[in-house]
Amino acid sequence: MTIREKLAALAANLWWSWNPEVLDLFRRLNPSAFDTSDNNPLAALEEADPALLDDKKFGRDVDTAYEAFQEYLNSSPRYADAPRVSYFCMEYGLHESLPLYAGGLGILAGDHCKAASDIGLPFTAIGFFLREGYFSQHFDGSGWQQAEYPVIDPRRHPLTLVRAQNGAPLIITVHLGRQPLYLIAWRLQVGRTTLYLLDTDFGANPGELRFLTRRLYQGGGIARIQQEIALGIGGLRLLRALGVETDVYHMNEGHCAFLTLELLRERLGVGHTLEVAEDWVREHTIFTTHTPVMAGHDRFDPRLFTEQMAAFREQLGFDERHLLSYGRVNPDDMTESFTMTVLGLKMSRQANGVSSLNGEVARRQWHHLYPSRPVDEVPIGSITNGVHLPTWTAPLARAFFDQRLGNWLERRDEAAFWQQLDKVSDKDLWQYRSTLRKTFVDYVNEIAPRQTLPQTARLDSDALTIGFARRFAPYKRATLIFRDLERLARLFEAEGRPLQIIFAGKAHPDNYDGSRLIQQIYEFGKHPALEGRVLILENYNVAVARMLISGSDVWLNNPRPPMEASGTSGQKVTVHGGLNLSILDGWWPEGYDGQNGWAIGEAEADPNRGELDAVEAQDAADAASLYHVLENEVLSAFYERGDDGLPHRWIAHMRAAMTTLPHAFSATRMVSDYVEQMYCVDCYAEAGA
Ligand SMILES: *Cc1c(COP(=O)(O)O)cnc(C)c1O
Repeated sequence: MTIREKLAALAANLWWSWNPEVLDLFRRLNPSAFDTSDNNPLAALEEADPALLDDKKFGRDVDTAYEAFQEYLNSSPRYADAPRVSYFCMEYGLHESLPLYAGGLGILAGDHCKAASDIGLPFTAIGFFLREGYFSQHFDGSGWQQAEYPVIDPRRHPLTLVRAQNGAPLIITVHLGRQPLYLIAWRLQVGRTTLYLLDTDFGANPGELRFLTRRLYQGGGIARIQQEIALGIGGLRLLRALGVETDVYHMNEGHCAFLTLELLRERLGVGHTLEVAEDWVREHTIFTTHTPVMAGHDRFDPRLFTEQMAAFREQLGFDERHLLSYGRVNPDDMTESFTMTVLGLKMSRQANGVSSLNGEVARRQWHHLYPSRPVDEVPIGSITNGVHLPTWTAPLARAFFDQRLGNWLERRDEAAFWQQLDKVSDKDLWQYRSTLRKTFVDYVNEIAPRQTLPQTARLDSDALTIGFARRFAPYKRATLIFRDLERLARLFEAEGRPLQIIFAGKAHPDNYDGSRLIQQIYEFGKHPALEGRVLILENYNVAVARMLISGSDVWLNNPRPPMEASGTSGQKVTVHGGLNLSILDGWWPEGYDGQNGWAIGEAEADPNRGELDAVEAQDAADAASLYHVLENEVLSAFYERGDDGLPHRWIAHMRAAMTTLPHAFSATRMVSDYVEQMYCVDCYAEAGA
């Protein structure tokens, strides 16, 4: 193979997205094409410097990368005879150049695909080709968010149109009511995982339907149910057309749960009785729920559902009421909506929440579906989310672990590997943290003046640096730390204890309250004590996230409990020696051990507490706790220096975090848990015990 052919093969697989040395090769091909395309290898390859392609040294580097790639593709699987999994999710966050996601759910699904590939699981994923998936964020002079939707051009990305035997694009048909909707699909290779992206945006569909797969979570109920018909029913039909064999269907969130009705239709079609068909569907599907917020579960008006499912229902031979019953808690209640989560729960053999606490919340949330059982016997378990460490670990950190602890990529899931940090001196660990912080601070100081938001960065590379980045949904309480502005100002003004906080995140463009929260942070940041040290980084995406999670000393997370299903951003900081300062919500009650970070608020979130009556009181108490911990524990540990100038107490916290958290909250651990506890319970009964 020529060098160009090897580069083309590398560019065609998103394996590069977690191999920075491979991305670096592409960057060398044409740095400006690479940088201006959000680090897109294909863009750099198209405009490659021809001299470099003939360069011997460069050629050897390409050979090395290509060999590593082949070795990865051929590495032995963690499980022999693992079940074949088809995974359905509405969004996938894989790399900044291909934003097919809106938030944490998508990032999680992307990490799931990558980790499934790492452990060699036979895994196929289904989603949407969201051409306008993720808006890019700018601001007007008042700090008000502006959304722009850049359009993804498939020719600029490693996307292959799926074709039928005769070479024509493969077309899948579903019905919206009685109207046909046509779907094509794009193939995206993510290591050993194949991701198929459904697409309605082509000439066979009328204008309003072409838009269905362009953006996520649009408008009202009609577009939403139509999207979900396309994903669940269309996705399964695509798998059938491709001949992808599947032992277990994983529904990640309720959006795709119509796939169970399509499975049911297939079984009835081969002559099963209703009872046998339903059992078969349950036997082959599992369901993951993510949302403690009741309003976050899709539910459709019974008339809308009946209208949109008309042709499908007739094929099934069901009456309206019977079809509705699959998504109703009480099938006799003719006013009850059709709820996708109810469908997912009723038609799967197992269901789970995404952290232990979230599982508990979900059991209470859906207890009314199982009235004869005590709440702890509601059949919803939990598997705690994790992050794909190769994607989220900064190159500098990877090199540090390789040098100090041995092959980190191979051994990252072993507790014993991380325990070797005992061998690393306080001085070296501090040097590690300081370099990561300085890299981040330099980055912020450099890009802040180029952003649309008028801010002057005055960051100090030795100052305690707090990061906060997430979707600006009100329950995440992004402005909690400003609740007592004078108290916060005193912390900023304390002599010899400089402090800086970097925010990032997007608000849903239709959400006024979310946009207002960002604007408020911008306004608070003008307080004389805070100015230049409270900054907002624009356009939070995977690339910005990588900088924030590797550079921050402290990762702040203060949602209103128990609304955070898991949260994963705090898991990304741990390999970098970043410390979580978080409400005991989501994953943190499982991670926090008293030494490896800090808890805000008194006790663990009470899963009994729904929407709080006493929101104000809760916010006041949590803010008071936050200030207290920040002043007396966080700042004091960071600025308490020994005779050697090192913050030994801080370094002990770092060591604890790096030793206890990365392997426990990694996506390969998560996917292994899914294999052993959900995908194939019988196969791995011993392993799970
Ligand atoms: C990790 C990540 C998220 C999810 O983080 P949360 O803790 O759930 O808020 C969202 N967006 C991006 C870009 C991320 O990298």
